[in-house]
Amino acid sequence: MSLIEITEVRKSFGSTEVLKGINLDVEAGEVIAIIGKSGSGKSTLLRCINGLETITDGSISVAGAQLLDDEVHLKALRLKVGMIFQQFNLFPHLTVGGNVMLSQTVVKKTPKAEAEATARKMLERVGLGHRFDAYPDELSGGQQQRVAIARALAMQPTALLCDEITSALDPELVAEVLAVVRELAAEGMTLLMVTHEMKFARDVCSRVVFMHQGRVHEAGRPEDVFASPQTAELRQFLGVS
Ligand code: ADP
Ligand code: MG
Repeated sequence: MSLIEITEVRKSFGSTEVLKGINLDVEAGEVIAIIGKSGSGKSTLLRCINGLETITDGSISVAGAQLLDDEVHLKALRLKVGMIFQQFNLFPHLTVGGNVMLSQTVVKKTPKAEAEATARKMLERVGLGHRFDAYPDELSGGQQQRVAIARALAMQPTALLCDEITSALDPELVAEVLAVVRELAAEGMTLLMVTHEMKFARDVCSRVVFMHQGRVHEAGRPEDVFASPQTAELRQFLGVS
């Protein structure tokens, strides 16, 4: 059994089908880059995996638990799968520490002292242990995104979904965020990353999944996918002939 099993997943919005039968199994500790043009369904797929969208057909399971369309299951699933977005979505009126503690105390009902200890540990892990008492607007975009990563880690997820987490950052801030992700990968975290950072995908990911028009159009090891893309669509996406 794989950690995440995605079987024949379809998703429609109204009459428009945006996921057209996705099959993807993710092993624990795998780091997968999801690439593809805008509109190909990458974000929708991640949102389906952590239950932010309900699927129209097929099945998704995480660590053996089926994602079913009921509140109890969805809540359990969201606790297991962390998600980080392009926008950091930190609460501006809370300190960095407060932001990292919040879902723990509110969603998991973790006692405050324990939540604080976890928050400090996770902020340490992303290199921001010294900014516990700062407010988000005192931090750079790269630091804010690292806080968002710490916040996701504080929930002790079994997998992390990252949706273009460096796309909103100034170029000089991208590396510090990718360095954190690289470290998580090295520590064995299971990661699914929608990314435009092809060099990162090549260096860090164990598998690359190319989505095109709601399907997994091509997938494989980065060295194969980048060096010898098999389909015209992927060659065009990568800008090679
Ligand atoms: P990507 O992340 O690859 O750019 P998305 O998953 O965001 O692609 O979108 C895939 C398609 O689904 C797009 O055509 C988009 O317009 C459509 N879509 C996404 N979310 C919604 C929604 N909530 N309602 C209607 N259409 C949507
Ligand atoms: Mg997207």
